[in-house]
Amino acid sequence: MQGNQGLGLVYIHVLGCRSSLCEGEYIAGSLKSRGALITEELGENINAAVIVTCSVTQEADRKCRQIVRRARKILGREKILAVCGCWSQALDSESAMELGINILAGSRGKNILPEIIESAITNHDTRFQDLRTQNIFSSALSWEELEISSPVMHSRAFIKIQDGCDHFCSYCIIPFLRGHPVSRPEKNILDEIHRLIDNETQEIIFTGIHLGLYGRDIDSSLAKLINSVSKIQGLKRLRLGSLEPFSLDERLLAALSECESFCHHLHLPLQSGDNNILALMRRGYTAEEFIRVCDDARKFLGDDLHISSDILTGFPTESDSAFNNTLNVMRESKLGRVHVFPFSERKGTLAEKMRGKISHQEKILRVSMAITLGRELYQDYVKRFINHDVEILIEESGSKGHTKHFVEADILDKKFSPNQIIIAKAVSELNGRLKCIYLNRN
Ligand code: SF4
Repeated sequence: MQGNQGLGLVYIHVLGCRSSLCEGEYIAGSLKSRGALITEELGENINAAVIVTCSVTQEADRKCRQIVRRARKILGREKILAVCGCWSQALDSESAMELGINILAGSRGKNILPEIIESAITNHDTRFQDLRTQNIFSSALSWEELEISSPVMHSRAFIKIQDGCDHFCSYCIIPFLRGHPVSRPEKNILDEIHRLIDNETQEIIFTGIHLGLYGRDIDSSLAKLINSVSKIQGLKRLRLGSLEPFSLDERLLAALSECESFCHHLHLPLQSGDNNILALMRRGYTAEEFIRVCDDARKFLGDDLHISSDILTGFPTESDSAFNNTLNVMRESKLGRVHVFPFSERKGTLAEKMRGKISHQEKILRVSMAITLGRELYQDYVKRFINHDVEILIEESGSKGHTKHFVEADILDKKFSPNQIIIAKAVSELNGRLKCIYLNRN
């Protein structure tokens, strides 16, 4: 334990996407710099609990409620329970008080949360405080910088550069919870990259709710940011998180192609390959446009670019032939790794009220067909690296890692310390993993 002994052990639990994880890490870092000892074990010896919540599905809501209840039970009545994030954005204050929450923040206000938690612990202040004072749909919103004074040392670091979305896909609740899009000032991002490089971070992943909207509110763009990042010395690897296909214009592709540290992998969620379903989903592109975006990306970034994707099966009115269109677009756009989800109704979205619901059985059948095709496509993609040299960033185990194209690799003949980048020769492939032999030259 370090610093202010008064804060003691603080439990932190994060649910949800990469943005949530980043926020959890920032909150943990800030509490740590205020003298808390952070734990992920919920025990009776903890002084306070912080739960970063998610609300992407009804199931996520259920989990949040369950974890909050459990935390309150173990904390007893006198300890501080703070909750923030997407689920708590929509929680009414009566329910929050019934659940025993002391400090309630939503998708905003996480930057002041550590200070308020510190003060509540120090002053034994168990009053109910609702920090959700902002209108999250106001175009006057700006970026809330989450201070991190002791950068976390990881081989890979997620940097949150954007928040919010106003695209309103018909199945998605996120715009209602995260609110108006805001971008992190470029200087803060570049400063954080420098700090991470100084702490030996090898790989940086830009993350956001809708990355393609980066810069719209601050007279900048993702392309401009990438151009600035390209000039940073010492950054080995840069990746982008999920990017909406319509965000990938020529300026961005040109910037990525000139950025030496950019890893040749893009995650472009297709969701459906059928034009009627895409229109109902309000995705903002057609199947033909998606294929063209993939072709353009390969023209700029090379034929070995890995394009991974997400598929949503069983959207209302999706017929067999509409689903087959999805499988065809998966093939035509030569996708790599694919995550497949069955459509699930989200209360408050347009899709909730749509007619033509697909049976659970049919949805699951389509999930399994899309997964099977996805595996075949991914294995075909991975095989291209056999007999070639690949660069691997070594992870915790010392014998596994990811290549620059975001392919998992096992090193068969040697162990390394984590966080090293090595060159190996890929000799075979098994279930989408490359099997490699170390080449003694870096
Ligand atoms: S782009 Fe669509 S899927 Fe992504 S957060 Fe916005 S509304 Fe949701």
